[in-house]
Amino acid sequence: MERDGKGNVGFIGLGTMGREMVLNLMKAGHRVRVFDIVRGVVDELAAAGAITATSPADAARNCDIAISMLPDTPQVEDVIYGADGLFKAPPAGKLIVDMSTISPVAVRRVYADLKAVGTAFIDAPVSGGPAGAKNAALSIMAGGDADAFARARPFFEAMGTTVTHVGAAGAGQTVKLCNQLICGINIQAICEALALGRASGVDLEQLRRVLLGGSAASWMLDKLGSAMIAGDTAAGFRIDLMFKDLRLVQEHAQTLSVPLPATALVTSQYVDARAHGEGTNGNQALFRVYDRMTGQTTGQG
Ligand code: NAD
Repeated sequence: MERDGKGNVGFIGLGTMGREMVLNLMKAGHRVRVFDIVRGVVDELAAAGAITATSPADAARNCDIAISMLPDTPQVEDVIYGADGLFKAPPAGKLIVDMSTISPVAVRRVYADLKAVGTAFIDAPVSGGPAGAKNAALSIMAGGDADAFARARPFFEAMGTTVTHVGAAGAGQTVKLCNQLICGINIQAICEALALGRASGVDLEQLRRVLLGGSAASWMLDKLGSAMIAGDTAAGFRIDLMFKDLRLVQEHAQTLSVPLPATALVTSQYVDARAHGEGTNGNQALFRVYDRMTGQTTGQG
């Protein structure tokens, strides 16, 4: 990090979230080297001022920090341990941060492997969705060593408004999985309420507005409710990604013998949604499961 507080960042994974996070890092004055296996988005960010890289190692070259934002555990392991990965070629600042939602067990393994060769690793998953990423308003929950967190903080602050060190390696993922558990069950509750309201002939948009003014209000009802009612399944946090997160929640809970019956129930709804081709749609498409069960539809549905 230079004296002006601006640093050099290697950023790997430029999808729905990563792309916006890179733009905010650049807006805050950091120089960003970007890599993704999809070339188009690399070129798009180059046009916005990023430096293109040809591999994770190349993205991290001469950087203070390398940040990844990838779909799942195997992709993060590939970026760390792969032939052109960060394990063999860490950034000059010896600090790697993964902001994807992945297995806490994998995080602890990566943390230990990297620590053994003198590189710090922070797990820092996020909440806030694409809008939070775009508006630099993410909630960032980080696990790892306090000194490494302190070095990463200025970069986190360019991407989020709530930045919290929640504990040792893997703790960020644990908190994120708790977040996803609540989100998944909440989406299911909203589907049930809308299905009941629809079958009763109640105006659903009015129902949503009324509920938002009372104790049933939630982020999910606010952000996804209208899309559910309109039958707009397209964009947003994908069904496939939430299914992945619910799998991670259950794997983690099983290792600790914590029963999560509501999470198991919700997961089966996601299985149904994916089996009906909704995997790449936004989470609001979970309401389609209720369309099928009730034989009723809303909006475009
Ligand atoms: P995404 O699928 O849109 O983006 C992932 C990117 O990683 C893609 O551009 C893909 O090409 C790239 N990629 C995959 N494998 C790669 C590899 N080996 N090397 C380099 N690049 C590779 O996913 P997203 O929506 O941006 O989510 C990223 C992570 O953040 C996920 O773990 C997700 O669960 C989590 N998350 C997403 C949201 C959301 O609303 N989308 C919100 C919070 C957290």
